[in-house]
Amino acid sequence: MTTHVTIIGAGLGGLTLARVLHVHGIPATVHEAEASPAARAQGGMLDIHDHDGQAALEAAGLMDEFRALVLEGRQAMRLLDEGGAVLFEEADDGSGGRPEVLRGELRRTLLDSLPAGTVRWGHKVTGTRALGEGRHEVTFADGDTVITSLLVGADGAWSRVRPLLSGAEPRYIGMSFVETYLFDADTRHPAAAKAVGGGSLLALAPGKGIQAHREKGDTLHTYVALTRPQEWFAAVDFGDPVAATARIVREFDGWAPELTALLTDSDTAPLLRPLHALPVDHRWERVPGVTLLGDAAHLSAPNGEGANLAMYDGAELGKALAAHPDDVEAALAEYERSLFPRSARAAADGTRLHELLFGDTTPHGLISAFTEDEPTR
Ligand SMILES: Cc1cc2nc3c(=O)[nH]c(=O)nc-3n(C[C@H](O)[C@H](O)[C@H](O)COP(=O)(O)OP(=O)(O)OC[C@H]3O[C@@H](n4cnc5c(N)ncnc54)[C@H](O)[C@@H]3O)c2cc1C
Repeated sequence: MTTHVTIIGAGLGGLTLARVLHVHGIPATVHEAEASPAARAQGGMLDIHDHDGQAALEAAGLMDEFRALVLEGRQAMRLLDEGGAVLFEEADDGSGGRPEVLRGELRRTLLDSLPAGTVRWGHKVTGTRALGEGRHEVTFADGDTVITSLLVGADGAWSRVRPLLSGAEPRYIGMSFVETYLFDADTRHPAAAKAVGGGSLLALAPGKGIQAHREKGDTLHTYVALTRPQEWFAAVDFGDPVAATARIVREFDGWAPELTALLTDSDTAPLLRPLHALPVDHRWERVPGVTLLGDAAHLSAPNGEGANLAMYDGAELGKALAAHPDDVEAALAEYERSLFPRSARAAADGTRLHELLFGDTTPHGLISAFTEDEPTR
């Protein structure tokens, strides 16, 4: 196949696609808005599932490299009540199918697996235009243009490629996360470190919660979740970290101090992350020469699947293109035929999980789900 693939976005999805294409000898260029691989902290742990994220890494020929990144013991999980009492706990005995890695290290592995020059950094797409017969013109912020006969939007939630296929726009889901970090927690924040334990912590109440994870060493990474309209968050001055922290922690009045310390003792300024989603059944009619993957195609409420699915999409698209070397349209049609039901299923599962985590029955409905009983009120 001689069609050069133009990929927009060097996230996990776009890079997995580029790597799987490379494995099959298909040339690709990835255009990335950020100036360099180090332009933005890629913080956060990702559990990489055996049925999608790991399957993608298998297709990319990177399983050994992946295993070397796994942080032992991080699949341990505990659910606490607001007072800090343990309601449910699961140890990491090494048999789980969701090993945890640092997102930045996984991205680095994918980048290192590509031929030099595959990623064009600092190449932000500002517009796209159909030229007919499956060809598209892509315009960049620096005035550069590229004409391509195979364009893949792997450019995340606010994709600039998506308008070629669909008019859908992400909508605010009614909840935002506030992100914090505690460094050297075992010595500097021992009560919070003990509460989190060796893996992840969930402390939940209807409409809100604290989710924390022990990352490499004893860094604690926390998302404080709160159901409020965007206007409510707009009235909180995140330019003033002390005032913003004080305002957010008021919503957790009466919660155990070792839980609220994950917010109030943060070593970084609290970072607001509004959450958006595309419609659960987002799809489009086939348009010659262009498709989407990952968040650009199926942004959903955080459910621990987004990065896994983006990588899986990338691998599936790469394999479909390799299987139809002379027929790009057959490859794109085959890819999208399974993409749409897969994405809709995952988004619907995500909505159900979001309801279990933050709905009226939490935390007991969630415990029932963990233990596979019927949810109780
Ligand atoms: C708070 C939070 C926590 C999450 N936790 C998890 C988790 O634990 N597990 C999990 O599986 N998923 C998680 N997710 C979801 C996951 O982060 C995403 O689903 C995943 O990153 C999607 O990958 P992607 O490659 O499609 O897009 P992205 O990772 O968003 O990558 C898109 C890339 O495109 C680039 N780009 C954007 N616009 C342009 C442009 N105009 N021109 C050029 N380049 C552009 C961006 O700079 C970026 O590098 C979480 C999401 C959030 C918000």
